[in-house]
Parts: sequence; C-alpha cells; structure tokens
Amino acid sequence: MAEFKDRTVLITGGGSGMGLATAGRLVEAGANVVLAGRRADKLEAAAKELDAGDRVLTVPCDVSSTADLDRLADRIGDRFGELTGVFANAGALGFARAGDVTEEEFDRLVGTNFKGVFFTVQKSLPLLADGGAIVVNGSWLTHRALAFTPVYAATKAAVINMVRSLAADLGPRRVRVNAVSPGYIVTEMFEAAASTEEAQEECRSQVAIGRLGAAEDIADAVLYLLSSRASYITGQEIRVDGGLTTSV
Ligand code: NDP
Repeated sequence: MAEFKDRTVLITGGGSGMGLATAGRLVEAGANVVLAGRRADKLEAAAKELDAGDRVLTVPCDVSSTADLDRLADRIGDRFGELTGVFANAGALGFARAGDVTEEEFDRLVGTNFKGVFFTVQKSLPLLADGGAIVVNGSWLTHRALAFTPVYAATKAAVINMVRSLAADLGPRRVRVNAVSPGYIVTEMFEAAASTEEAQEECRSQVAIGRLGAAEDIADAVLYLLSSRASYITGQEIRVDGGLTTSV
C-alpha cells in the first residue's frame, strides 16, 4: 500500500505477536514504525528482525504510566514530527477465580488494557495528523464468556465502547477510531494460556474455519483499518476470529 510510505505509525506492544506482525506489514509498505513496550531487549530484537534501519524507533514504555506515555510522545515528536496511525495493542492477560483476584492484579489488567489504551490515544492526539487513524486491540472475550477472566474480559469490552465514543469525538478531525477483536491467535500470550497440544486443539475445534489464527491475520485487518480503503469506517469493531464467536 503506497499510501504508507514515509508515514509513521505507533504500535504499543510492538515487540512481539500481533504488534510486531503489524510493524512488519507497515515496514514492507514503506512506513516508519514506533515500537513501544516495557522490555527494551525485546524491542531491540524486534527492530533487528524488521531490519529497516532508522525507519524503526524503539521506545521502552509502560502504557499504564502516563509519564512514560508523555516521554514516548516526546520521542516520537523529536524523531518523526507527527503520526498518521496508532495501534493501541499492548495487553496483559490474567486468569483467576473471582475470589482470588487481588487488587494488584486488578490494577495491572485495568492499567494496561483500559487506562493504557485510553492514555495511549490521548497522548498521541497532539501528534496525530488530521485524517489519521487509530486501531485498538480488543478480544473475542467481548462476545463469548470464559471463566476466570472477569477483569480481562471487562477491560476488553470496555475499549470497544471507548472506540465508539472516541470516533464521535474525533470525527470532525477526520480521525477514525476502530477496533479489531482477535480470536485464538498463536502468539506468546496464547501459548502461555494454552500451553499444551490438547489445549490448542480444544481451541482450534471451536473455530468455524478450523484453524488457529496467525498474528499476520490481525496485521492485515489493522492495515486495512489504518488505510484510506477504510476511510468511511469509524467507531466499528472487526472480529478477526475465524468464526470463533459466530459459531456455537
Ligand atoms: P504478546 O504477548 O506477543 O504481545 C503483548 C505485548 O504487549 C507484548 O509485546 C508486551 O511487551 C506488551 N505489553 C504488555 N503489557 C504492557 C505494558 N504495561 N506496557 C507496554 N507494553 C505492554 O501477545 P499478543 O500479540 O497476542 O497480544 C496483543 C493483543 O492482542 C493484546 O492486547 C491481547 O490482549 C490481545 N488478544 C490476544 C489474543 C490471542 O489469542 N493471542 C486473543 C484476543 C486478544 P512487554 O512485555 O515488553 O511490555
């Protein structure tokens, strides 16, 4: 997609999984990418893999910290001047029975998946060009229940409603705000949650098209939503889940 050439996109959680796959697609299309995540070594490894020289900026950043997000915005401003896209993708998963969820765990999940998404967007806005686009990473858990994820599932549903409100707010600037909601996508997060072959087979068996997703399946949907091909789409959620949430 030629339109991405020399444009700059921020990707939180860009050091692995869907974030890194999206960065790969954007770099192929000629974009600059900013990879943000907590672990500097992971970001460096991702930049090496992308092999795009100074078109990749890595910035260690915890999205639950507004001070970190301020520093991130400063680094992006200094280096690239403006953004044309944001993929608010960083996420944290946790499983616990309701009675076992500690306040610390609650704050970790809400801080990353809800507060982190909101302030990633807010702190990006002064840099975001009119006509730019924001994509938030949701989850299939907005649409189907899974035991032991009461806080994670709630944060993911919350950002879908956040997207709708932000779309209305930012529409006059022609900034579009949408979400992707992945199904079972094979990444570090998925493999940590479904660590055995049996567990992965059980997940696969729930997917209408009969395979687990790849990070690139999400990247393709994100690129579409960031691109002008989606110029009349805002406030929407695209489920990229192989039919996981549309079959029983
Ligand atoms: P990964 O674990 O590969 O990616 C998650 C990324 O988020 C990591 O790079 C991690 O980097 C970063 N991250 C976590 N916490 C923070 C934080 N506080 N600040 C900044 N970065 C952070 O998994 P996925 O690619 O699967 O996850 C991407 C998104 O997709 C997440 O939002 C997840 O909830 C969502 N999702 C995943 C599904 C799946 O099946 N894989 C299904 C549905 C939704 P670091 O540790 O260095 O900070």
